[in-house]
Amino acid sequence: MTADFDRNDSLGPTRIIQVREPGIGLEGILVIDNVAAGPAIGGLRMSPDVNTRECVRLARAMTLKNALAGLSHGGAKSVLIGDPKMPAADKEQLIRAFACALRDNHDYIFGPDMGTNEACMAWVQDEVGRAVGLPSELGGIPLDQIGATGWGLCHAIEVALPDCKLSMNGVRVAIQGFGAVGSHVAHYLAKRGARVIAVSDSRSTLSDSAGLDIERLRSLKASGHPVSDYGSGRVQDPSAIIDIECDIWIPAARPDILDESNVDRLHTRLVAQGANIPITRAAETRLHARGIINLPDIIANAGGVICAAMEYRHLGQSVAFRAIEDRIRSNTRAVLDEAHRNQVTPRQAAESLGEARIRKAMSLKRWSLF
Ligand code: NAD
Repeated sequence: MTADFDRNDSLGPTRIIQVREPGIGLEGILVIDNVAAGPAIGGLRMSPDVNTRECVRLARAMTLKNALAGLSHGGAKSVLIGDPKMPAADKEQLIRAFACALRDNHDYIFGPDMGTNEACMAWVQDEVGRAVGLPSELGGIPLDQIGATGWGLCHAIEVALPDCKLSMNGVRVAIQGFGAVGSHVAHYLAKRGARVIAVSDSRSTLSDSAGLDIERLRSLKASGHPVSDYGSGRVQDPSAIIDIECDIWIPAARPDILDESNVDRLHTRLVAQGANIPITRAAETRLHARGIINLPDIIANAGGVICAAMEYRHLGQSVAFRAIEDRIRSNTRAVLDEAHRNQVTPRQAAESLGEARIRKAMSLKRWSLF
């Protein structure tokens, strides 16, 4: 492992579990990073190309994110190697089997992530009774349907805009990924007067400097069409989204999409990380050197997990939305102020705030991790 979390440091991981059952094609990994604050909440990701290294990094991001959001939950992540679009019966069998194999890890609460949804969480709940992001019929708050993460991201952006000498009205936005996070942040920003000039999905980039009709795009995507079917604007390859000149650039797709080789192609004032670990550490440092404000994932995209933690406590959607707004707004302000005060990147400021909270929680436990 060479990337950001490539070591067992004094925070974690506390446990890495590999699950294999070749008879049914089951191969998965659970990383429980740190549980000092309480049982870990972290998504179950299903994808053909996930691995232990990605899982370790994502689990650490959850530890920091949950601590920063003031949740009584530690951080973890699980990954299942496979095509999430496989036949539903096969997917259900794999997810049920994976959940059963992890039944005894009582300090891990499953949540949805890329390639899994509310139905998958219902199967997990049925097997082991420990999942969030459940269908509303099981007491869940449908966090992707209501756009919990996009809502939080929109508030993080609103707080950061004055630091970039920008205001919401007419501000130009480009979004990589038009799924649950990307389409909802587009919706909330457009409602506040922003102009979304480009979006992308795994097939193409769609742009129009006059602004895209977000509600039209959302219904197009909801009916299964790619963004290229929009009918007007310019259509280019997916990576063209990086070159779009804009004021706010939002990664809302995959990890590590910006590194030192392509980060200088960005022409923007503010980056707001909707995706988890979308930008390598070196590329983030480069953004900072260029004076581009970069809101890290562990602050900006915490809306989903805050919503999940509210659901776990049987609280409703309106309480969850208020909690997301309050916590993300105050954390964004605190991190930007700290970064400014100490002349560090917002990532460094966020991590040191998060780590301080985790170490305090660890100091209150009878045991120590290592
Ligand atoms: P999603 O599957 O709903 O959407 C992902 C989108 O990215 C799709 O539109 C897909 O076409 C697009 N995409 C995939 N590869 C791409 C590429 N190479 N270029 C451009 N677009 C590409 O997923 P989501 O729930 O919106 O999650 C997106 C990211 O946000 C993930 O990194 C996820 O871990 C992170 N995240 C999600 C939540 C949440 O609440 N859903 C919370 C925190 C973080």
